[in-house]
Amino acid sequence: MTKKILITGAAGFLGSHLCDRFVNEEFHVIAMDNLITGDLKNIQHLFDLPNFEFYHHDVTKFVHVPGKLDYILHFASPASPIDYLKIPIQTLKVGSLGTHNLLGLAKEKKAIILIASTSEVYGDPLVHPQSEEYYGNVNAIGPRGVYDEAKRFQESITMAYHRFHGLETRIARIFNTYGPRMRLNDGRVIPAFIGQALRGEDLTVFGDGLQTRSFCYVSDQVEGIYRLLFSNCVEPINIGNPDELTILDFANEIIKLTGTSQKIVFKPLPQDDPLQRQPDIAKAKKVLGWEPQVSRSDGMAATYNYFKQLSKEELFKSEHKDFSKHIRR
Ligand code: UDP
Repeated sequence: MTKKILITGAAGFLGSHLCDRFVNEEFHVIAMDNLITGDLKNIQHLFDLPNFEFYHHDVTKFVHVPGKLDYILHFASPASPIDYLKIPIQTLKVGSLGTHNLLGLAKEKKAIILIASTSEVYGDPLVHPQSEEYYGNVNAIGPRGVYDEAKRFQESITMAYHRFHGLETRIARIFNTYGPRMRLNDGRVIPAFIGQALRGEDLTVFGDGLQTRSFCYVSDQVEGIYRLLFSNCVEPINIGNPDELTILDFANEIIKLTGTSQKIVFKPLPQDDPLQRQPDIAKAKKVLGWEPQVSRSDGMAATYNYFKQLSKEELFKSEHKDFSKHIRR
């Protein structure tokens, strides 16, 4: 019998790649998104398939799915520092109220639910690399606090549903992930640098550029999530690529990759921008038999190819999303 899976945030970057994977694995995929930050162009190639359907719905409202449901992947959330600044309350609501609704749905349907958590639960980490045992160093009231605390609450309520209701739950702590379908103008460093190179602008490095990140290619991330869903691992697990580098070195890599003759300019470091980030993936290796396969040079080449084929209009328009119509005062 065909297994049915609900994927929230389905029109977003990670959500759309997960839709592809589960459609290809012959699941019946129910995709859900309120399209505040997601974009239908990421999933339109799936619309005509018999095992794919899309619901335009905001999961902070009661979520109804008719019939049986075997799995839920909760990937709905703004996921870039610019989004948290523009839509802080939606960010808090989708991680808290949205997660509550989806846990309730999972309980009703006896479905296994996997929630997308984040390396942001470690905040600006004082322990390096970050293992799952580390409790984090988060500023609850800073600009990133709306995301960090929503995700920490999300982990907490998910564990409570597991312990109190016996729900089958999984928690993926997702570290920086990149690839085709990232939003060009969401402010994240990879689309920012590639967009700047393609437009012939200087590359904006924040702070002194000595802060570090570790970038995971999307196909590796999807494989990790897939394995986690079908494992019996209830405790949170890091999924990311430990290959760490400074943002300044990364900017220089982008200059080489794109052949741009532009230079690097330095801008102020945003508040609470973590100084270092690298996942400890010992647990994922042991429990899921998973580790990243795609090198940064291969992953970045594929990502650059994706951005290169965008139209001039897409490349030059500033943030195309107008959030204002979604905001109720
Ligand atoms: N960053 C940068 N220039 C940009 C955009 C981002 O130097 O134009 C830096 C940012 O300050 C951070 C790193 O790149 O240190 C990664 O930022 P991103 O927003 O991609 O992810 P996050 O901070 O959530 O890891």
